[in-house]
Amino acid sequence: MNWKKIRFYIKLHWLKALLSILLSALIISLVFLVITGLRAWNESESYLRQSQLAMIPLQLYLQIIMALIFGFVYTYLMYWLYFKRGASSFAQTSKKSIAGKDVGVTWDDVIGMDEAKEEALEVVKLIIDRVSLQRIGGKILKGILMLGPPGCGKTYLAKAIATETKLPFISMSGSEFVEMFVGVGAGRVRSLFKKAQQLAELEGGCIIFIDEIDAIGAQRSLDRGFGGTTEHNTTLNQLLVELDGLKDKNYNIILIGATNAPEAYLDPALLRPGRFDRKIIVDKPNLEDRQKLFSYYLKSVKYDSQSVKIDRLARITVGQSPADISNIVHEAALITVRNHNSLITMKEIDEARERIALGVKRRIKLSEREKWQIAYHESGHAIITYLLAPSKDVFKITITPRGPTGGATWIPEREDTFIEDSNELLSKIKISLGSYAAEKIKYNATTSGVYGDFSSAMHHAHNMVWVCGMGKSGLLGNWEIVRNVSEDIKGRLDADVQDILNTCLNEVTGLLKKEEPLMDRLAKELVTKGELNYDEIEAIFKEFGKSRP
Ligand code: ZN
Repeated sequence: MNWKKIRFYIKLHWLKALLSILLSALIISLVFLVITGLRAWNESESYLRQSQLAMIPLQLYLQIIMALIFGFVYTYLMYWLYFKRGASSFAQTSKKSIAGKDVGVTWDDVIGMDEAKEEALEVVKLIIDRVSLQRIGGKILKGILMLGPPGCGKTYLAKAIATETKLPFISMSGSEFVEMFVGVGAGRVRSLFKKAQQLAELEGGCIIFIDEIDAIGAQRSLDRGFGGTTEHNTTLNQLLVELDGLKDKNYNIILIGATNAPEAYLDPALLRPGRFDRKIIVDKPNLEDRQKLFSYYLKSVKYDSQSVKIDRLARITVGQSPADISNIVHEAALITVRNHNSLITMKEIDEARERIALGVKRRIKLSEREKWQIAYHESGHAIITYLLAPSKDVFKITITPRGPTGGATWIPEREDTFIEDSNELLSKIKISLGSYAAEKIKYNATTSGVYGDFSSAMHHAHNMVWVCGMGKSGLLGNWEIVRNVSEDIKGRLDADVQDILNTCLNEVTGLLKKEEPLMDRLAKELVTKGELNYDEIEAIFKEFGKSRP
């Protein structure tokens, strides 16, 4: 232990140290008193003993008072230490840092994100080579922004960077800075960076990871109501001040921010040069990545390699994140144990996928009428998907209540896609409206079950018109970023949205009316069996002369 370290610990723990010294001093003096007292007792004459015996109550009394006073002072000091300075202190962070070597995520544990990993490796090199970089006058790294959907391993990657650079790691979530009172969030930012500075002085550097950084870094103009805007602004300003401070001082502190939100949602000030200079996209895994992920997670369990084929698993899990894949393997292992089997087979994996995609079955008793209504609702989705959306599989239809919905049609994507054209967006809207159209055709009345479908249809139609210039009236541009859209323009855009919805509904209604016998058949099978799997669905469509392109 060198002098620097000792000084650092004194700075951190002086109060605790002082209290411990006081306490031990008291115990030692008490023991000393008792020993000398006993010795004097043994050596004294009998008449002296008599008089001393008479004094014992008084001594006892004094000692009890002493103990009470000390106990009170001690308790008060501890209270002050913990509640005024410690954990629940308002504007402080009580976050513990982890030493780089103890973070526990090594480079080899980062799987299925080769591109992001490559970027991160460069970051690691930049952090390690900081000194030589400074010597040649290179730009020093301050902030790294990780962008991508949830569950794709941003935290994991940040931890691996800490392990590789062997620097202490402080991890926080953006929501921990969100408070009602002005200045509290800013105080926490200040205290976080102060702590990082102390660690950097001691260990040669520090990595701060802030997950959900959008909670602090969202655009300052966005109104939050209830005066939350001012508080949000001061917190973000403090973060900017601290980031800029890193540049002036020579601390090796790197801030890694992660967000699921699109980059445009963040305040432009954060993205200016010298702040979050480097971006790492941590995207959903592609086919090859999913293969690697499955082999990695399956390594730790026992599975039947005859039925479980990793390349097939990778093909049927389009759009799933690493967290989903880990979940599937974990859930399949649980199902295997529950069924008293020793090897995971494809059957358990399918069951696990289904449970994760659709939710656990619920024990709700549906009335006969509800069963038929849900059966037609789901048949509507299934027929439209099968006939109009060749990129999706109709994998399962169920009218057993699961999660929040009465029934479900499970339609996973067949292949990875990155952009969608207007036809694909329209087909999504049509799939959503299939349920409404089917209910209307059969009952001339519709149920509250279309709520979620309408939300999704509306969402896509709105984006097509307001953001992507796909409306009928030909208004181009991203109207979401225009601050004051005139009432006239708004009216025309919303009319375009309604037009898309109505055109889609008309097409879907026409198609379902034409396919009514198929719809009746599917609904009847569903009411009898409760759910239909891929092969059963395929057989019924074949029977009516339909096949996938
Ligand atoms: Zn639906």
